[in-house]
Amino acid sequence: MSRVLETFLDLARIDSPTGRESGVADYVRCALEDLGLTVRTDDTQALTGADTGNLIVSVPGTTTRPVIAFSAHMDCVQPCEGVEPVVEGGTIRTAGETVLGGDDKVGVAAMIEAVRRLSESAVPHAPLKLLFTVSEEQGLRGAKALSAGDAAADVCLVLDADGDVGGIVVGAPTHYTFKATFHGRAAHAGVEPEKGISAIALAAGAIERMELGRLDEGTTANIGTISGGSATNVVAPVCEMTGECRSRDRERVEQVWASMDAAMREGAATLGGSVDIVWALEYEGFSVEGDAPAIALVEAACADIGVSPRRFTTGGGSDANVMAALGMETLVLSSGMSKVHTTGEVLEVAQLERLTDLLVAVARRAAG
Ligand SMILES: [Zn+2]
Repeated sequence: MSRVLETFLDLARIDSPTGRESGVADYVRCALEDLGLTVRTDDTQALTGADTGNLIVSVPGTTTRPVIAFSAHMDCVQPCEGVEPVVEGGTIRTAGETVLGGDDKVGVAAMIEAVRRLSESAVPHAPLKLLFTVSEEQGLRGAKALSAGDAAADVCLVLDADGDVGGIVVGAPTHYTFKATFHGRAAHAGVEPEKGISAIALAAGAIERMELGRLDEGTTANIGTISGGSATNVVAPVCEMTGECRSRDRERVEQVWASMDAAMREGAATLGGSVDIVWALEYEGFSVEGDAPAIALVEAACADIGVSPRRFTTGGGSDANVMAALGMETLVLSSGMSKVHTTGEVLEVAQLERLTDLLVAVARRAAG
């Protein structure tokens, strides 16, 4: 069994639901301290609520610039406790009761193994910054708490996209969410419905005024949850609704949230009710120009290991959105994981090894 596979299986067996990443953090710390590296834990637990901070590791290179950051998150989505990974015919899966946690332990394992290999060889390589974040799966909380100094690097490669190694995410959307509370008026539904204002009808009127789904190639909008009312014989006085919109076009996303907001206010006012709406900017989008040095670097490294690179954009968010906003030229790399966030999640051993090869190749290429 290869060393990176052993590392991955060790990590997969350590419970690390969002907020309880300390077991994985301890493992990463031991593995990297064994190589003589200093592993720093930042002081962000009060901000994130996690049982450890993010880990930040500087790996000296044979050159001084550029500094390349690799980043992976240490938490997994539920169900992810008591994971028993099974390796069969070159594929890693679980018995089916839990996720595998390849999202994002494939990135964590590949980072550890890449640094081991670089430390064992005498080849020139760029200085690296390793970022192991907490609580990505719930609001990118660890990355959002990182200090700009800790996240400083020339290029940041976030190892957190699904699909075969070679995929390069060059753009992701800005994401807004809202929580709306529609206020109507309660009345007996059989005796005097005329005296009531149905908050459910207010919400329905709002939805009717909205454009939802895929609005254009890079823009989406959705109503996520709706709840309200207490009994069939009561005109519902309150109805709560949550939703979101995303776009890779910064101006477009502002237009979409403004029109969803207007639809809710109109829908409520038309029937004589009201609505309170709280919007949150979850994260900023990013978009990397086609001729960016980071893309050229990753594509050259792909060529070095015999993998064809594929550029694509995504409608999802990741720590990369935060890293980009911190000023690093940021890409997300496909890391071989598939069927993530399901109990059918699988990972091919060859992909794990290829991701490690790619990180080593990037570090070497960046040294010129
Ligand atoms: Zn992930």
